Amino acid sequence: MSASIRLLIHGASGRMGQALLRLCAERDDCSIVGAVSRKVGQRVIDGIPQFASSELHGVPDFDVAVDFSLAEAFDPILALCVERGTALVSGTTGLDESQRAAIVRAADRIPVLWAANFSLGVAVLSELVERAAAALPGWDCDIVESHHSGKKDDPSGTALALGESAQQGGAQPRYASLRAGDIVGEHLVQFAGVGERVELIHRATSRDIFARGALHAAARLSGRPPGIYRLRDLL
Ligand code: NAD
Repeated sequence: MSASIRLLIHGASGRMGQALLRLCAERDDCSIVGAVSRKVGQRVIDGIPQFASSELHGVPDFDVAVDFSLAEAFDPILALCVERGTALVSGTTGLDESQRAAIVRAADRIPVLWAANFSLGVAVLSELVERAAAALPGWDCDIVESHHSGKKDDPSGTALALGESAQQGGAQPRYASLRAGDIVGEHLVQFAGVGERVELIHRATSRDIFARGALHAAARLSGRPPGIYRLRDLL
């Protein structure tokens, strides 16, 4: 039997962090050695050592950090992984250019996977969008994303990633964002021509799809050589 992979969950008290903690408990290939949130005392699962972001350097040894926090919290967790020589799986969105450049530099020393979306359905949607864009030259391309009212960044990281796929197919996408209620995440990619319209849509109804994808990726990233990995490399 392979050894259990030691995970550090960064952003543990959040919506995604709570899903990661719950779903990790159902797996036998990983265990959580620390849960980091902005402040200790926010919701986490009993029995898991908790740390505040100010205590990040005191966390125990881990194999992979799984980060679903906020863009403003990303630099310290990336730096810690480089310092400890451990892998990083991150789904934190809203990163700026300098943070993306820091990921590329870090990948000289550690394995890193950052993905705007950890669901299989969005991976398929992304391929369909590129194909549709290439097949429908000159059509208007609009990406409309809807999320819960607590989401900080817009357009969503997934919308921007779908936009990159559309651009690879030759389209020039525009973006619109809605923030309302408790919507987990919806992405509509619309191609509009004269007298007709193609709509491709993905609706996430549970955060568990992202958490399962991230845990699966973490289990597969552990022990790999340094570099940038894509979700599809680890599926
Ligand atoms: P949330 O607001 O519910 O939780 C944020 C978490 O980050 C909390 O635990 C908070 O304590 C922690 N945090 C805040 N500041 C911190 C700091 N300075 N240091 C350490 N931790 C800090 O957010 P959420 O809905 O769980 O989403 C988290 C991130 O994941 C967002 O960027 C969101 O866009 C992204 N997300 C990505 C995917 C994907 O598949 N890639 C899916 C869903 C959400």
